[in-house]
Amino acid sequence: MARMAAPNASDTKIFTGLKQIAETRHYKAWLLDQFGVLHDGKKPYPGAISTLENLAACGAKMIIISNSSRRALTTLDKLKTLGFDPSLFIGAITSGELTYQHLQRRDDPWFQMLGKTCIHMTWSDRGAISLEGLGLQVVENVEKAEFVLVHGTEALGLSSGDSVSKNLGELEKILEQCAAKGIPMVVANPDFVTVEARELRIMPGTLAAKYEKLGGEVKWMGKPHEIIYKEAMAMAGVEASDSIAVGDSLHHDIKGANASGIESAFITCGIHSSELGLNGFGELADVASVRALASKYDAYPSYVLPSFTW
Ligand SMILES: [Mg+2]
Repeated sequence: MARMAAPNASDTKIFTGLKQIAETRHYKAWLLDQFGVLHDGKKPYPGAISTLENLAACGAKMIIISNSSRRALTTLDKLKTLGFDPSLFIGAITSGELTYQHLQRRDDPWFQMLGKTCIHMTWSDRGAISLEGLGLQVVENVEKAEFVLVHGTEALGLSSGDSVSKNLGELEKILEQCAAKGIPMVVANPDFVTVEARELRIMPGTLAAKYEKLGGEVKWMGKPHEIIYKEAMAMAGVEASDSIAVGDSLHHDIKGANASGIESAFITCGIHSSELGLNGFGELADVASVRALASKYDAYPSYVLPSFTW
């Protein structure tokens, strides 16, 4: 059984950069969150690119683990357009990729039972998600649907392959009908919100949480669920004790690492920055505030850092 990482808040160590952690060479695999850690969706955070290079120079095997609803290659391409060198990573695993693989392979009993006809919630402005190769039939009528597939929070997929913009309230109305019918949901991005150029956006996890409240069954395909950590460790060929996860969300990144028996580094400049009373990049969080927030989320990082810097 994997040992619990940093079981209580008083074990947490506060550092100003990753150098001290990396130079111990204790961790062979680094499972890195992207949004809120490496970049804000529009540009890299200061020092992120050189920090990755320094980590690589220390022999770290780096894998992006992301709750993005897009497939892994899209994530690596996006990182490239933002100025990151994709060859520094041994790969990327996204919620979208896990969802795609499980819907295609259907090699576990839960996915075997799932039908092929679905209500599809997706993106519009941010670009629709392709379901090509999955043999799914998208329907608009809940009565005909066997499950709900949630990739985004902006639009409803149409049987024609197009989609129509819907607001959150409209999507929630459809979910009420789905819950009443008792069909399961697959959520291809368990995030509740994301930081995008300093703004918080509502993500699919918010719809999934609503669905559970309505009594619906949800298959969460990403952090904080073990499924994505197991996949990442398999990719790197390492054990939990040789791994460290880095992320800015206590609920997703740190709780997920705790549950998987992996040590973790909490980056405070991301999604929790305002809760921690931080205004500027690189500002150090107050220890008591970090501990209080960690208890609130029941998620305990091994290390706390202001940003992903060396
Ligand atoms: Mg993040």
